[in-house]
Amino acid sequence: MESARGVFIDNCWRPSASGRTVDVYAPAEGIAYAQIAAGNAADIDAAIAAARKAHETGAWGRLSAAERGRVLSKMGLIVLDHAEELALIEARDTGKPMKQARADVQACARYFEFYGGAADKFHGETIPFLNGYFVATEHEPHGVTGHIIPWNYPVQMFARTLAPALAVGNATVLKPAEDACLASLRLAELSVEAGFPEGAINIVPGLGTEAGAALVAHRGIDFVAFTGSPEVGVLVQTAAARNHIGCTLELGGKSPQLVFADVDLEAALPSLVNAIVQNAGQTCSAGSRLLVERSGYDRIVAAVIDRFSSLRAGTPAMDLDLGPLINPRQKKRVEAFCANAASDGIPLLAEGRIAEGVPKEGYFVTPKLFGPVARANTLAREEVFGPILAAIPFEDEGDAIALANSTDFALIAGIWTQNTKRATRVARKVKAGQVYINAYGAGGGIELPFGGMKKSGHGREKGMAALHELTTLKTLIMKHD
Ligand code: NAD
Repeated sequence: MESARGVFIDNCWRPSASGRTVDVYAPAEGIAYAQIAAGNAADIDAAIAAARKAHETGAWGRLSAAERGRVLSKMGLIVLDHAEELALIEARDTGKPMKQARADVQACARYFEFYGGAADKFHGETIPFLNGYFVATEHEPHGVTGHIIPWNYPVQMFARTLAPALAVGNATVLKPAEDACLASLRLAELSVEAGFPEGAINIVPGLGTEAGAALVAHRGIDFVAFTGSPEVGVLVQTAAARNHIGCTLELGGKSPQLVFADVDLEAALPSLVNAIVQNAGQTCSAGSRLLVERSGYDRIVAAVIDRFSSLRAGTPAMDLDLGPLINPRQKKRVEAFCANAASDGIPLLAEGRIAEGVPKEGYFVTPKLFGPVARANTLAREEVFGPILAAIPFEDEGDAIALANSTDFALIAGIWTQNTKRATRVARKVKAGQVYINAYGAGGGIELPFGGMKKSGHGREKGMAALHELTTLKTLIMKHD
């Protein structure tokens, strides 16, 4: 069993204050195979002190934007140099197929590359004001930023949250998820090679209720970026409000795919299925509601059934359509949704298979398509976070929009039609942070602002938008006449 490295502060590992550890399980095997340190409030204190020093008097605070950008860009290259090693760590830690883990590592590198390039191109503006005045705005880093990430895309999330924060000059403290964080720990080591100075990146692994809660409640952080469940999101925002600091919350969704009868079905089909199968449905932006125009419902759903039935779940090395769920708790939760759907009389239209030879202790579930799902049913309204797709018919354009907007979530949406005027009309009325037309979740979208409304959270990550969240705007007003 790989033993705990400790907590990463000031560019080195040190034992956690508690001396305790948390076991890490391989989801495809169902066995504990590593340990991480159980960081606690004392470790968070030390990490925040290191970050504060790096920002105010240390080397990170003294670097110019271009120099910071160079360090980030180098990190991107180092990630690529270690791509296969990181993909193997990520795949065992999360259970996902190797091809998905490899794609996630590429995305990780891309975040560092993108924000490395952006560091010295994010600037303020001058504002025409009264005669005799010169006015300029400047984006200042918050200072010390706290980051909490989940277990579904650890290697991507590490870069998605830290790269923009670092690009604009914040010093950071990250609490990765206890269920899957070994790639984050390896990335911390690689960050030293890239040239991040002491205190710029500090990592405190451990439980959410200990290390996570201590980080978000700490008076020494100036901003917090959280990705995870809506329930913990409320705790994070409450803690941020107590400390009078800002936060971004990325909390998940029940994202609709609106499929009109005139869809180019052959082109749409891979995305309609992959949107819920990718990462075994454990994706905040999973396309978990298949909303289909009644006049084309039978034909379209038949094609989805056909594809769904051929899906197979397997181990990372088998590299099939999907892997297992992250832990027994998530497996139980997903199975409960399916059992409830069955007892509510919702037909199971299609079910994939678990490949022969997977360890029986792994946390596998079969991908399932249910339909038609009644609009009030929990399967039509709540986030399952598993490979479970709910097909629901709609009558016309107005009904499609009302149905799309009928859940508590509003993260992303897909619209499939060959009528581009209708697609644009619908896109403008659907409540979501991102709306795709004849595509879904394309290419990772690192350049594209991403985030939600309502129970999906608030604030934007990715793209240049993240840099606005991770800075505060100062206005300089100078009278010269
Ligand atoms: P979670 O919210 O408990 O965990 C996410 C992160 O928050 C982890 O790092 C965890 O350690 C930390 N955390 C937990 N309690 C905390 C606290 N009190 N204070 C500060 N940090 C804390 O999520 P989960 O239990 O792992 O998953 C449950 C559900 O959350 C899933 O079924 C899914 O619906 C949702 N989820 C969403 C995303 C997403 O990408 N938006 C990711 C993972 C899970």
